[in-house]
Parts: sequence; structure tokens; C-alpha cells
Amino acid sequence: MPSKAARPSDAGLIDRFGRRATDLRVSLIDKCNLRCTYCMPAEGLPWLSRSELLSGPELIRLITIAVRDMGIAEVRFTGGEPLLRQDLPEILAATAKLNPAPEMSLTTNGITLAKQAADLVAAGLTRINVSLDTLRQDRFAELTRRDRLADVLSGLKAAKDAGLSPVKVNTVLLRGINDDEPADLLEFCLENGYQLRFIEQMPLDPQHGWDRTQMITETEILDRLRTRFQLAPHPEDRGSAPAQRWLVDGGPGTVGVISSVTEPFCASCDRTRLTADGTVRNCLFAQTETDLRGPLRSGATDAEIAELWRGNMWQKAAGHGINDRDFAQPERPMSAIGG
Ligand code: SAM
Ligand code: SF4
Repeated sequence: MPSKAARPSDAGLIDRFGRRATDLRVSLIDKCNLRCTYCMPAEGLPWLSRSELLSGPELIRLITIAVRDMGIAEVRFTGGEPLLRQDLPEILAATAKLNPAPEMSLTTNGITLAKQAADLVAAGLTRINVSLDTLRQDRFAELTRRDRLADVLSGLKAAKDAGLSPVKVNTVLLRGINDDEPADLLEFCLENGYQLRFIEQMPLDPQHGWDRTQMITETEILDRLRTRFQLAPHPEDRGSAPAQRWLVDGGPGTVGVISSVTEPFCASCDRTRLTADGTVRNCLFAQTETDLRGPLRSGATDAEIAELWRGNMWQKAAGHGINDRDFAQPERPMSAIGG
């Protein structure tokens, strides 16, 4: 049971279960240039207007408060598609200059990465996650509703050539669509020096079509990989990292599985989230969120903003509850929270 005690005085983002958030996920924009079937309907979603989106200076102010005043040590940029944000280099550069300097990473579909990789590195980015669910052109076109596999592959190569390291690849498997590809994807990633991680599909689609029986589980993923590779548990402690890592064929190659549904890692969660319209969320699955944009635009001080953020984290639930009978999907889909 959570403690009913009042929140103790602490500069950090703590909750009633003894967790401390040090990892901030920032969604820079809700729009996307793909329409992955499990993430967005073909026609897209009602996008935020320009005035609803946080501006670059507003984002930088909030990130500064989080890093300077509340112990955030890692900032991960996502969306929507973060590479669609014109002022991305300025946001990255301002974040890289903070003191203490946070770790920075970016999750992208890679469509325009070939053009942008060098600029991202110049702005201070050192690592990247690229989402790629299939290596087959026809499947990619079907799954993302855009025929752009070649762009993602050249984006991955450009990221490596620009010196981003590690280059991680994120894959979601869908039954009957791409669930026969895990070993091919792993071979491709090992050959090219990318670190592959599979992510169990979560109930965060706007269509509310997620079906547990259709989800490809960690066990299934590992079984399929073992038809071609030997896997041994990675000797390094996982810490608060969501991915369970495996050494492939004795190493040094690895593969990770983020099994948020079948093996929830909520007890060691260290995340807080900022949406592109300026609300903070303490969990992907939270039913409530705290607006920071309103106070920001009506003159709140940094200390007042920080207190609102701390209050939001104090309300964090023990777990996401996906496996509970009364689980209710949050109103915002993944693309509007920031995956
Ligand atoms: N557009 C960027 C991209 O695709 O990498 C960033 C945003 S996207 C929402 C971030 C990650 O979330 C992607 O790897 C995507 O595959 C994953 N994702 C989207 N919907 C998901 C779901 N319902 N369950 C698990 N992962 C999901
Ligand atoms: Fe866009 Fe990423 Fe969602 Fe695909 S998963 S539609 S690339 S936000």
C-alpha cells in the first residue's frame, strides 16, 4: 500500500513507492510522416495547432528546470516524429549545454535521418534509436502505409557514418504480419553494428484494437531467435533499463527485449514524460496529467513549475495495470504521449 504521508521535501521527482525519476522523455511533436497501423489511423490524428505546441524556448525552459533543479540525468526526445521539428538542432544544442549535462538520445522512424544525421551530431547528439519493424519493402509499405524502407535503411547508415553510437533499432512484432522476421532483423543488425531491441506491443493505439492474444510475447520472440542464434543472459546488471539483454552466440553482439506487458518493470521505473503540448505524465498509462503550459504562459516561476511537476510524480501509481481486469487504456495514444 502506498504511504498516505505528505510528500517529503526533496528537490527530485519522487513518488510514494520510493522511486525517483531521472529519465525525462520529451515528445517534440505529435505529427508523423508514417502511419504505422498499430500507432495511427490512415488519415492521421487531429494534430496540435502551432499555438498548442510548446515553442522551442518553452521546451528548453522546462527541460532546464528538470535537469538543473530536479535531478533529471537523461533526456530522450521522441514524438510523433521528432525529426519533423524544424528547431530540433537548437533544442538539442541547448539541452547539451545544460549543467550538469544530461545524457541525450532520440527515437525516430529514420525517414529523414540521412539528411539530418550530421546536423544532429553537430548539435550534440551522440546516440540514436531508429524504429524498424521489417526488412521487406512490401511489408514496410503495408505496415507503415508509406513505401519508405529505403529511406530508413539509408538513415541508419548515415547515423552510423555520422558517428552516432550506439545506433539502436526498435522493433514491434505483429502476429501474422512480421512475426517471422526476428532472426532476419537480428542478423541484419549484427552485420551492420546496430543494437536490436524488440518491444512488446502495448495497448496504446488510438483505435483501441490491441488484443493480448495477438501480442507477440517475449517468450515467442526468444523462441524464434533461438532457431538461428544461441542466446545467453547478458552478464551486466539491467538496473532500471527496460530491456532484458541477451548475448548472441557468445557475444559481443547483443539483443534486447522490452517486455512491458509480460514482465513489467514498473517497480524500477525512473521516467517522467513531457508531452508536446506541455503536460507532464508520470506513466505512459497514467489516467491523469498535469498541465505546465498554462502556468508557463501565465508567468509561473521556475520554482512553481518544479512544484507542479513534483506533485505529478508523487501521484504515480505502483504499476501500469495492463494485466489487471479493470485496466483502462489512457485517452492519449502513444504518438500523442511520446513513445
Ligand atoms: N516516430 C518515432 C518512431 O517511430 O520511432 C518516435 C515515436 S514512436 C511512438 C516510438 C516507438 O514506439 C516506436 O518504436 C514504435 O514502434 C513504438 N510504438 C508505437 N506504438 C506502440 C505500441 N502500441 N506498443 C509498443 N510500441 C509502440
Ligand atoms: Fe509515426 Fe512512430 Fe507512430 Fe510509426 S510508430 S506512426 S513512425 S509515431
